[in-house]
Amino acid sequence: MSDARNAVIVTGIPGVGKTTVIDTAVKMVKDKHNEEVPVLNFGTAMFEVASGRGLVEDRDEMRRLPTVTQREVQQLAGEAIAKRAESAKVIVDTHTLILTPNGFLIGLPEWVVRAIKPKTIVLVEADPEDIARRRSDDSTRARDVQMVEDIDTHQKMCRSAAVAAATLTGATVRIIKNRQGKVEEAATQLYETLME
Ligand code: ATP
Ligand code: AMP
Ligand code: MG
Repeated sequence: MSDARNAVIVTGIPGVGKTTVIDTAVKMVKDKHNEEVPVLNFGTAMFEVASGRGLVEDRDEMRRLPTVTQREVQQLAGEAIAKRAESAKVIVDTHTLILTPNGFLIGLPEWVVRAIKPKTIVLVEADPEDIARRRSDDSTRARDVQMVEDIDTHQKMCRSAAVAAATLTGATVRIIKNRQGKVEEAATQLYETLME
């Protein structure tokens, strides 16, 4: 039975370091194998749709849109990303649970994750206190301020969401710890998953 799977979905709560770890792992693949792994950023694909419709001016405004709108934009972005994951090895940089004013929105609902058919769903995790600090130190984004306890809860709930998405698709779930000052260590694990 052929079971070609080209996508590795990398998830984790805002500010945990997904994009930083992905960029480092992609560079490792380039340096060691001279291979380019495209990174499909789900938030960027959604932002193109949402800003094109005049709904937001900044990517951090999207999680505050009515959830019905977020779902609609999510579906369009998911379709575009799934198309690109059909034929080549790709990384999808996204979230399993988005914290909205009306509760958690599932980032990988059935219609999105089935279309992408990932090999692995990676959960990037870090110490909640480090995440709080990374958020407040990063002036490039308008990240939410959350209590350390709530960051911990969000992170734990993401594990359940990742397992649910993996149950629908048969993907593996890999937890990668992004320890403070240890991006290379986390990126090496993502590199191994990409090359498996
Ligand atoms: P978002 O979901 O909001 O896009 P993200 O998970 O992609 O967030 P990044 O933008 O990669 O997070 O990282 C957030 C901040 O944390 C950045 O300023 C980055 O430099 C820093 N950072 C990432 N990993 C580490 C680490 N291991 N140690 C210290 N700082 C880190
Ligand atoms: P990011 O740069 O990864 O933080 O993405 C920017 C924003 O895009 C997030 O804060 C969410 O509002 C939105 N987003 C990203 N991935 C998803 C997803 N899978 N489902 C719904 N919204 C998403
Ligand atoms: Mg990011």
